[in-house]
Amino acid sequence: MVNVQESLKVKREVLEISSEIMSESGQFLRKAGFIEILPVIISPITDPLNHSVFDASIDYYDGKYSLTKSMIFHKQLAVRVFPKIFTFSPNIRLETEDKKSTGRHLIEFTQLDLEVKGAKRDDILTLIENMFVEVFKDVDEKFGQIIRSMNPHFSIPKIPFERVKYLEAYDEYGPDFETILSKRATEPFWLIDIPIEEREFYDRLDGDGKVLVDMDLIYPYGFGEAISGGEREYEYEKILYRMNLKGNDHETLRWYLDEVKKGIPPSAGCGIGIERLTRFVCNLKHVSEARLFAKLPGTVSI
Ligand code: ASP
Ligand code: MG
Repeated sequence: MVNVQESLKVKREVLEISSEIMSESGQFLRKAGFIEILPVIISPITDPLNHSVFDASIDYYDGKYSLTKSMIFHKQLAVRVFPKIFTFSPNIRLETEDKKSTGRHLIEFTQLDLEVKGAKRDDILTLIENMFVEVFKDVDEKFGQIIRSMNPHFSIPKIPFERVKYLEAYDEYGPDFETILSKRATEPFWLIDIPIEEREFYDRLDGDGKVLVDMDLIYPYGFGEAISGGEREYEYEKILYRMNLKGNDHETLRWYLDEVKKGIPPSAGCGIGIERLTRFVCNLKHVSEARLFAKLPGTVSI
């Protein structure tokens, strides 16, 4: 019983810190002129992802709803209404069970998703760097003692974060470069210019036709991927070209293509895993410790 109480106390503290992270990041974004929109849970269109997961869809009358894997398309459409939007988006990705022990995967997780009309990648990098500093300072002020007892490495990130080009890192360290660099780093860093085959069709292709104007944020001390994002393709012909390269079915994304045809603005944005950020701040072994009712890949649980 004592152990249960003790572990519940730790969980409670972690969840309080997570709640504060969400509150402070929301406040930061509102101050920066963002509007919070409600998340989309079901839609005929969702992120096709660049890796395969089990199907999560529901037949409904003559149609089919998919559970949201990410709100990428809705973000692109939402910036027609508000130039800067964010949402805490529940994402369902029915990952295979080999992802159970990565420490970073849950089949239900929350993404702080944001998008900015007319923004360049650099604008998003700077925005996130400043947001991280604000959020880390805030949780340090409110929970510093608890955090430092869990996480001896905790510090306010130093900005700007280093920008590492994907292909240069690959050449130097081989296919495992992300893990190697994450383990060796003591500060978060950006991985930029990700090759086309590693990403979905919607991140914007650079002029040279090989790498994308996009990024991941990588946490130090081996915590790995934190954020994915980039500038977006927004022109109909280019989107079709990129979908064809990936073999994405036009019919499945017909609602999206119809909207693109009417016109969507250029934009850039990213998605930040809340459980991963909490895990990093609190030095947790697994993201499952960062939420109540965690669902691990390969299992069924409440
Ligand atoms: N596509 C990213 C993801 O959900 C998020 C983003 O690009 O904004 O993985
Ligand atoms: Mg990603």
